Amino acid sequence: MKAMLLDTICNVAENPEPLAPTDVDRPVPSDGEVLIKISACGVCHTELDEIEGRTPPPKLPVIPGHQVTGTVEKTGKRVSKLKAGDRVGVAWIFSACGSCSMCLKGDENLCPGFMATGRDADGGYAEYMTVPESYAFTLPDSVSDIEAAPLLCAGAIGYRSLRLADIENGQRLGLTGFGASAHLVLKMVRHELPDVDVFVFARSPGQREFAVELGAVWAGDTDEDAPERLDSIIDTTPAWKPVVKAMKNLAPGGRLVINAIRKEDADRDYLLNLNYEKHLWDEKEIKSVANVAGRDVSEFLGLAVRANIRPEVETYSLEEANRALYEMKTSKIRGAKVLKIS
Ligand SMILES: [Zn+2]
Ligand SMILES: [Zn+2]
Repeated sequence: MKAMLLDTICNVAENPEPLAPTDVDRPVPSDGEVLIKISACGVCHTELDEIEGRTPPPKLPVIPGHQVTGTVEKTGKRVSKLKAGDRVGVAWIFSACGSCSMCLKGDENLCPGFMATGRDADGGYAEYMTVPESYAFTLPDSVSDIEAAPLLCAGAIGYRSLRLADIENGQRLGLTGFGASAHLVLKMVRHELPDVDVFVFARSPGQREFAVELGAVWAGDTDEDAPERLDSIIDTTPAWKPVVKAMKNLAPGGRLVINAIRKEDADRDYLLNLNYEKHLWDEKEIKSVANVAGRDVSEFLGLAVRANIRPEVETYSLEEANRALYEMKTSKIRGAKVLKIS
């Protein structure tokens, strides 16, 4: 089968073609696993974190990609729920131990044995992949494979961030960074919490315009102060300056939720601008979002149908994965990028 393989950690700015198109053996499903014929795979900023070594795969080569949609081609032994022909999606969660205290309370995203799709196991930048049956999520009929792909990470992790932001109808929410995940959070808020005013901070004028089109009441540069103090802010940027700026924009008792698997080091010195009185006093808090649990994915897919949440997508072929990643690196983003595979 055709696959895009990562075999060396490198900087994408210096090496714009980090993935190599390669013919590899089609995987065989083990006990409890299903083999999926992939139709689409979303492109996520986390792929850049893997390629550039901020969250490196434990073994190379690996096939990246963790927003996978397709149909079950074949089932391994002891698969009970799914059968050939079922439409399924795979998210960042590939597996967890199932028996630790975190797994037992449904927080398997915090399991010490958490394995990520496309990092700890081969993912969806390929024609086929295998996954444990319990982490192949049934896709709603009303959403196409291309549209469902970005819902599986950008959407599900956005949903988890919004839950952790703990925002109530009538309060004010900020979004700093406006890529795939943030644009889906804005759509969710517009439907589920119609009296929440959303304020967007984004570097590119195009992203700011897009945010206003989707219903943000205000959009400014990452540097700007919002016209009002905000009850919660969700940060989806890879940088540190937006963290410091967001803390200043928070209202007393406000919470910043950082939805990024890793931060880049380029502007880490900016943290020295953190001033206790201006940025942390008044019981402001910071919380990270770690991975995604199975229930985030299934609950969000249900919400996406109820709220008719459709991502804005740009499609690429499997062989164009490097171009999609390079454009993401250089902030050419409107909505979500998806590889159309079959
Ligand atoms: Zn992702
Ligand atoms: Zn566990």
